[in-house]
Amino acid sequence: MIDLHTHSRVSDGTLSPAELVALAASRGVKLLALTDHDSVDGLAAAKAAAAETALRLVNGVEISVTWEHKALHVVGLDVDVTNPALTAGLARLQTVREERAREIGRRLEAKGITGAYAGADALANGARLTRTHFARFLHQAGHVKEEQQAYRKFLGRGKPAHVSVSWASQEEAIGWIHAAGGQAVLAHPFRYGITRAWLTKVLTAFKQAGGDAMEVVSGRGNPDEFHTALHLAGRFELAASIGSDFHAPAPYSQPGVTVELPPTVPAVWESFKW
Ligand code: AMP
Ligand code: MN
Ligand code: MN
Ligand code: MN
Repeated sequence: MIDLHTHSRVSDGTLSPAELVALAASRGVKLLALTDHDSVDGLAAAKAAAAETALRLVNGVEISVTWEHKALHVVGLDVDVTNPALTAGLARLQTVREERAREIGRRLEAKGITGAYAGADALANGARLTRTHFARFLHQAGHVKEEQQAYRKFLGRGKPAHVSVSWASQEEAIGWIHAAGGQAVLAHPFRYGITRAWLTKVLTAFKQAGGDAMEVVSGRGNPDEFHTALHLAGRFELAASIGSDFHAPAPYSQPGVTVELPPTVPAVWESFKW
């Protein structure tokens, strides 16, 4: 079992890095990447926890990208977390994130929802705010029946508290990852709400910008998407990555994915520096 896409409390997961490592190890995961949104701050603690287990931890990060006015996620794997290009790039995105969170708070305020910024911030426990924290706040404060509804009503694209910002460009994100000696992976290609034609455009640009791999299994996985993803990986000469995108114990997907890849599509983990 492998998992190259997971979150901890350092971004919008609910477990500490050490708790995540323990859970993954107990589920039989042998190779794990912690990939918090725009942050590598949990990796030292994860690494220390992994030393107590048979699990091998890979340094990761999930970088927010804006491309053609769309938000994309690029996962960096096997990165040197001390690389200055990477750390400076992530620091810039954290500033964008903080300013966006303030604006989300103001827009919710304008909709009559008071204290959203403070409420989300309290739930974040020191982490920089993501929309997940706002969704949790909106749910816990009774403004929506379930967290999903928070995106449909307030936080999703085209909704009143959706704030468009400029994250990194694809070239920047891939450049930072490469500067840090890592591999750049297009995350969850089927979760952008774009057509197949747009996905082809994204992959063309991603490959041209130096991208190395794409996720062929994300979350619980879907056989049709797996099949299509393998086809696209072959066509764009991208390696395959797999991950659960784990955020929290139940009801979402749990850490650990198994997969059988055809010989035509190399696994991204084959080229990790051991
Ligand atoms: P952000 O990077 O702050 O825009 O937050 C993005 C995060 O919000 C994603 O990584 C997911 O964890 C979560 N998210 C976004 N859209 C949804 C959705 N429709 N349902 C559940 N979680 C979502
Ligand atoms: Mn997330
Ligand atoms: Mn993502
Ligand atoms: Mn993720």
